[in-house]
Amino acid sequence: MYSPDDTIVAIATPPGRGGLGVVRVSGGAAREVAAAIGEPGCSLEPRHATLMRVRSSAGVIDRAILTFFPAPHSYTGEDVLEISAHGSPLLLRSLVEASMAAGARLAEPGEFTFRAYLRGRIDLVQAEAVQDLVDAVTPLQARAAFDQLDGTLTGRIAAIDATLLNLTARLEASLDFPDEGYHFVPPGGVAREISELIGRIETLLRDARRGRLVREGAQVAIVGRPNVGKSSLFNQLVGAGRAIVTDIPGTTRDVLTEVVDIAGLAITLVDTAGLRGAATDAVEAEGIARAHAVRRGAALTLVVLDRAHPLISEDEDVLAATRGSRRVLVGNKHDLPAMWADAVVAGEGIVNVSAATGDGIETLRQTIATCLVAGPDSGVERDSPAITNVRHVQLLTRAKAALERGARAAAGGTPEEFVVSDVTEARALLEEVTGARTADDVLRTIFDSFCIGK
Ligand code: GDP
Repeated sequence: MYSPDDTIVAIATPPGRGGLGVVRVSGGAAREVAAAIGEPGCSLEPRHATLMRVRSSAGVIDRAILTFFPAPHSYTGEDVLEISAHGSPLLLRSLVEASMAAGARLAEPGEFTFRAYLRGRIDLVQAEAVQDLVDAVTPLQARAAFDQLDGTLTGRIAAIDATLLNLTARLEASLDFPDEGYHFVPPGGVAREISELIGRIETLLRDARRGRLVREGAQVAIVGRPNVGKSSLFNQLVGAGRAIVTDIPGTTRDVLTEVVDIAGLAITLVDTAGLRGAATDAVEAEGIARAHAVRRGAALTLVVLDRAHPLISEDEDVLAATRGSRRVLVGNKHDLPAMWADAVVAGEGIVNVSAATGDGIETLRQTIATCLVAGPDSGVERDSPAITNVRHVQLLTRAKAALERGARAAAGGTPEEFVVSDVTEARALLEEVTGARTADDVLRTIFDSFCIGK
């Protein structure tokens, strides 16, 4: 995919102006780049920050801190040069150009991290965690990503893999003595050992639903007829005045979204247009169509009803349209005298709030989190989950299936070679998680989602 022998360069800090900007160079020519742009005669001690003038083809352009990390003790495992200059896009670009003139080429997205993976500095789970950590928008997301970067998942998979390797070795040794059959391990023992490993994979997978929710977040749609307080509720949940709140029905014509942290989950909150049966004009009709599309795509729908106004047919329409989807009924305007009793929506439960005063909003936030996680272990903020990535879930599920086949074969006394083949398949799948063996196209998909400089 990438050519791993070139020296690469990129701006590592985000686009735009800032106090500092960092240019990173990795590869065999990093020393030449340092010599070309640094002050003549100024030597760089490994891993020591050195302040010096830096040059491009235009002459001296800035005073910057240069740090040289000789291979293999660097982020990528290669010679790395980091240049911390002033955060001017113009300046950083000319440093990149000067590095290119000295033998580097522009890095592809994710190429620094890809090299770290290639040189064995990190495994694939950790490379994916780098991206997750940078992208995290809630503290829980960041913690889950950091745990993976720190090797939590890798460690658990390695432990399972080591036991499987040991088992394979014993089974293969038995194969060398075909007359005796299961010479080194009795079939019942093999089935038991494999079942124990299946249990360990199941423990990892048990948390995966919550893990994916933490990593990927979820979309929550706010629906209801005009004027029930959807925009006001949206603003309360966002905690800042984003949506335009108005007294005129039907003016929330487009779909507004905002990502909010609800119990550690990155929730994309969507405020839809009034779900009215009959639109008064084409723009509003388009808004209503989009609202329905959003609701269908959302993981959870908040159906907002007005407690201070008798339920009308438009409310019934919204209730009917959302029946069957995962929803929370929200009784808004609870600060005003209620015009109908909770019992009206008996059996389903309703969270009463006031979008005007903020009353009940915390309960609603908790309800949203609980409904999304739904299941025996619904404590969203318990601790960070071990598995958050759908790629890992799929591979572990397949590894578990292979082991189940192996356990059944062993228990039934099927010859060892069949059990060995199932166990070997499971090991290959586990190694695909960590990247010990992973197809090029999978790697490409993973690293393509990075941005340049990472
Ligand atoms: P939407 O059309 O459903 O988005 O409703 P809005 O959020 O625009 O609110 C409609 C009207 O109801 C506005 O005048 C709001 O100020 C008012 N409103 C919204 N929530 C509450 C509430 O909890 N209590 C009271 N008293 N008024 C509210």
